[in-house]
Amino acid sequence: MFDNNPNSLLRHIPPVDEVLNNSVIASLTKSAPRPIVLQAIRDTITQLREELTTGRLPVQPELQSRDFFMSLIVQRALDQARSQNRPKLRQVINASGVVLHTNLGRAVLAESARQAINNAASGYSNLEMDLSTGKRGSRYAPVEQLLAQLTGAEAALVVNNNAAAVLLALSTLANGREVIVSRGQLVEIGGSFRIPDVMAQSGSRLVEVGTTNKTYPTDYQRAITPETALLLHVHTSNYRIVGFTRETTTAELVDLSRTSKLPVMSDLGSGSLIDLSVYGLPAEPTVQQVVKDGTDVVTFSGDKLLGGPQAGIIVGKKDYIDRMKKNPLTRAVRIDKFTVAALEATLREYIDSKTAWQRIPTLGMLSADINILKLRADSLTEKLTAAAGDRALCTPIQTFSAVGGGALPTAGLPSWGVEVVPRGMTVLELAGRLREEQPAIIGRLQDEKLLLDLRTILPGEESVLVKVLAGLLKGGA
Ligand SMILES: *Cc1c(COP(=O)(O)O)cnc(C)c1O
Repeated sequence: MFDNNPNSLLRHIPPVDEVLNNSVIASLTKSAPRPIVLQAIRDTITQLREELTTGRLPVQPELQSRDFFMSLIVQRALDQARSQNRPKLRQVINASGVVLHTNLGRAVLAESARQAINNAASGYSNLEMDLSTGKRGSRYAPVEQLLAQLTGAEAALVVNNNAAAVLLALSTLANGREVIVSRGQLVEIGGSFRIPDVMAQSGSRLVEVGTTNKTYPTDYQRAITPETALLLHVHTSNYRIVGFTRETTTAELVDLSRTSKLPVMSDLGSGSLIDLSVYGLPAEPTVQQVVKDGTDVVTFSGDKLLGGPQAGIIVGKKDYIDRMKKNPLTRAVRIDKFTVAALEATLREYIDSKTAWQRIPTLGMLSADINILKLRADSLTEKLTAAAGDRALCTPIQTFSAVGGGALPTAGLPSWGVEVVPRGMTVLELAGRLREEQPAIIGRLQDEKLLLDLRTILPGEESVLVKVLAGLLKGGA
């Protein structure tokens, strides 16, 4: 008979100091900070004591051995310390086929933009110094002129994101007064960004006109009162109202504003600087076009179709932009030096629109040649099959990718992917384990299969994907 009193078994649990001296733990402290390792050991010991006294750890003869407890503690503490020492923001291979995936960080930056961030991070910069005079300068200067040049607008301002851009614009132009919007454009973007809420936050009052499917210029005209401050057009970038519809265009609103003398603002959301229809994508109004229509203020995101860093870009008439710059809110939503750096580099890529298609990853993915996607799918299938052997069935398959990020909602882009059906585990299990890998791999579950869409897999990522998947299937079999 062994001593089966749980309370007396507790004395076989080694103390923290002894665990710290264990050779496995000692080598772990070389790669993980000591406080993390120490906490993991303490937590594990507390857990074990609790498991013993509550009977969750069944009493058995092995528990009389200090070595048994030592190896149990080392294993558990090692797992905890490793998991806590892993960065929480991790690299992901996006095999979902959603190009601007908000949950995966939206746009992948151009090489030049990544370089610019690196430079800005590695030393000092003239963020707010005019180098020609040595005096204080504006952090917006590097992007202001580029934006004006690219969009044809008189002036520009950049803030933290487009939600902030809309808030700043409304708060500057319409605080305490009325803003007229079509009922069909009371957009919710996601993450509780709703146009009516933003308007309330800005201190302006919403005046809805028209119906969900039809709004005419006369609807706006009839709603104008001495209290009106702004005519707002919101691009329904993440949904479409189709069928029996009539939308009042920004050009028509500008016509109206000639007599009413009211400014017209357009929230484009996923503003594009390039005509996407040349690659068969649905035509989106370009920022240049909306500016040319005479719109006074235009807002759009930096990390949607533009393919740059997270930012809210405001372009328009100088008088209005100057008023926004003086709004104290601008300071609260200002961009940091990394955004300035990445945005300047991204915008420079647009100076030559031909090379922009190749050099801006978002544009490259959106315009990817279907024949090349098929070749890549065939090649990936071959490599995965060779690596996975009989532990998975891999097949190239035709599919549709999505633009995402609330842009071009009706565009399903014909694409190619690889369908993976594992043996020895379910597809859900495989998807879960792929998310735990480094880098994590995010595919798409479709018809009980895991689909890896080639459109959003970056050059060079295929070999990593093969290695990770092969290792995982081997371990799981
Ligand atoms: C996406 C979007 C926004 C919000 O832009 P963020 O950059 O995500 O803050 C605002 N308005 C419209 C129409 C949008 O599509």
